[in-house]
Amino acid sequence: MRVPIIAGNWKMNTTVREATNLVSEMRPLLDQIENVDKVICPPFISLAAVKELIRGSSVKLGAQNVYFEEKGAYTGEISPLMLAEVCEFVIIGHSERRQYFNETGEMVNKKILAALKTGLKPILCIGERLEENEADRTEEIVTEQLRSSLAGVDYPSGLIIAYEPIWAIGTGKAATGEQANETIGFIHGKIAKLYSDEIAQALPILYGGSVTAANATEFMQQPEIDGALVGGASLKATEFVSIVKLTSQIRANLSEES
Ligand code: PEP
Repeated sequence: MRVPIIAGNWKMNTTVREATNLVSEMRPLLDQIENVDKVICPPFISLAAVKELIRGSSVKLGAQNVYFEEKGAYTGEISPLMLAEVCEFVIIGHSERRQYFNETGEMVNKKILAALKTGLKPILCIGERLEENEADRTEEIVTEQLRSSLAGVDYPSGLIIAYEPIWAIGTGKAATGEQANETIGFIHGKIAKLYSDEIAQALPILYGGSVTAANATEFMQQPEIDGALVGGASLKATEFVSIVKLTSQIRANLSEES
């Protein structure tokens, strides 16, 4: 069984002071929960301070974006090399970056290649728009996103995929557990075709889109879903901790049954 991952994407929220307060509140509670990888992704400016606060803890750190060049005249950008010193994970290709910052499939691919080369674990976000979902094009869209994002990736060691239907992000309108499970099963199948069954078996695929403590159980009970990328609900310590706790309990029950 893959270890489930609950990752919190804080987006452009929290000042450094607010970020350190939030981590100080979460850390002792998260440290009591086993069998789940807990990842928090604060804004760049808070990464170093948060890293200090989670030293010696089971909580892991991720960034929300990365540039693909190693260094140079790219004012305002952050390189994989810089990130690798402070964190383990990086979110790549989030739909908000594709939508507001014109990130293309080609850029996402370059970022994935650069992150993997540096030893960062990318959380690659893919997912369809509402109109694509309504036109029954979900599988076609995620297939194309996988193909373009993973071009030239020979071995996706450390890669995590987050299936995030765009219509479910920040809208309060989550997919159903069944819908998410079906698409994530499809993605696992695609990974098996692109690489091998063994690689697909090992590759965690998360669901993202309006996950809360109230609906987390529905997702975590699904056999194909390996965790969640959580946006809004990751900004409230009790809510995020509840999602992690539920995931741990569900996983413990499932391994008892099997
Ligand atoms: C996200 O930002 O990746 C996300 C899933 O957001 P939310 O949980 O708020 O829908």
